[in-house]
Amino acid sequence: MALVVQKYGGSSVADAEGIKRVAKRIVATKAAGNQVVVVVSAMGDTTDELLDLANQVTPAPPGRELDMLLTSGERISMALLAMAIATLGMEARSFTGSQAGVITDDVHGTARIIDVTPGRISSALAEGAIPIVAGFQGVSQNTKDITTLGRGGSDTTAVALAAALNADVCEIYTDVDGVFTEDPRLVPSARRIPRITYEEMLEMAACGAKVLIPRCVEYARRYNLPIHVRSSFSDKIGTWVSGHAGDESEEAGMEQAIISGVAHDRSEGKITVVGVPDKVGAAASIFGIVAEAGVNIDMIVQNVSAIATGRTDISFTLPGAEGQKTLETLRAAQDKIGFQDLLYDDRIGKVSLIGAGMRSHPGVSAKFFASLAEAGVNIQMITTSEIRISVVVSQGDVDVAVNATHRAFGLDADEVEAVVYGGTGR
Ligand code: ADP
Ligand code: ASP
Ligand code: MG
Repeated sequence: MALVVQKYGGSSVADAEGIKRVAKRIVATKAAGNQVVVVVSAMGDTTDELLDLANQVTPAPPGRELDMLLTSGERISMALLAMAIATLGMEARSFTGSQAGVITDDVHGTARIIDVTPGRISSALAEGAIPIVAGFQGVSQNTKDITTLGRGGSDTTAVALAAALNADVCEIYTDVDGVFTEDPRLVPSARRIPRITYEEMLEMAACGAKVLIPRCVEYARRYNLPIHVRSSFSDKIGTWVSGHAGDESEEAGMEQAIISGVAHDRSEGKITVVGVPDKVGAAASIFGIVAEAGVNIDMIVQNVSAIATGRTDISFTLPGAEGQKTLETLRAAQDKIGFQDLLYDDRIGKVSLIGAGMRSHPGVSAKFFASLAEAGVNIQMITTSEIRISVVVSQGDVDVAVNATHRAFGLDADEVEAVVYGGTGR
């Protein structure tokens, strides 16, 4: 008997029909002889709607109350799903994150899981019931307040619970048939990736492929837990996330594609610190101040200093939502650092090419840059990792850049195979 953790995203339970459809699928999995634990997201765009509502009441909702509000979304879907399963003649019991033993730190809005103690889930399973757990939420070990794990956090709940229960697989059900070589909403000719390593999936997720969130992939990698990403609207096999990029002996490694896919991200902004004195410690003081403000930066570029002035420019990218705060923090330290000016651009986009094969195949960057040049796209910044190349371009160029790159690396399917079954893409 296998233990399967199934996570259903908001698009899969968007309305009453969706909830009934998902309930049938869960019951069928159990009837086939498996033990099933379900993690569910809020219905459709509920979380966005609750956020909008909070922002209509106040521009700065207190974190504790915002988490209390947002976690109600998952409580609605978990209870409705348990009712739908009962109608089909099986017992289901819903649990909040706290009841399911998801223990976190006390950072509201982006809490980290520090322990999972799923005693009540195991008991429900032992008694033959199907546990339905509210995703995206936990309870703080210190304050005992309700916390949320960050947007898309139900993915993390599912993987964390699967790891704690020693499940055989974590199935992530969504509105597309798996992980594709790019978001099929932007590139309809994208191909489904049958199997991808944790490392490549982590890079795809971190570079904007929101089909999985990075933290859930990190978690799965740590516990070597296989993830199967698939559609709740079809019976097709999806994408298996398992194995490691360095592990050439993997069976599927033989067929390993050089490039796994392309990803894009329009959510970042770029700050340029103009006229920084070219002396020891300048970068340390800039990034020290940014770090103290709790901001995670992504790419950094420092220009060659002009001999005449002894000054240089430093540009870096960061989450767009942190842009204004970071500008204010830096402005307050202008005299101390001694820079001349600050520029901010939130009309940028990041386009990334991901593939473990690029480590051993020369010419990948050359081909990437050539495809962008042919498409008339100007590159503002470049960074690389062992298995990724990313460029920052103007936001208006993202679509063209993504499609050109996808084509240049032969990722387009011969016939359109990607289906987007639901969701609003919000
Ligand atoms: P859910 O409601 O199931 O959590 P999400 O909206 O979070 O669904 O994630 C699924 C969406 O991710 C898809 O509808 C698709 O538009 C988007 N997406 C982005 N990049 C990719 C990719 N490389 N492969 C598949 N889907 C992707
Ligand atoms: N409902 C939450 C969100 O929209 C969590 C999730 O769906 O994973 O971010
Ligand atoms: Mg999601």
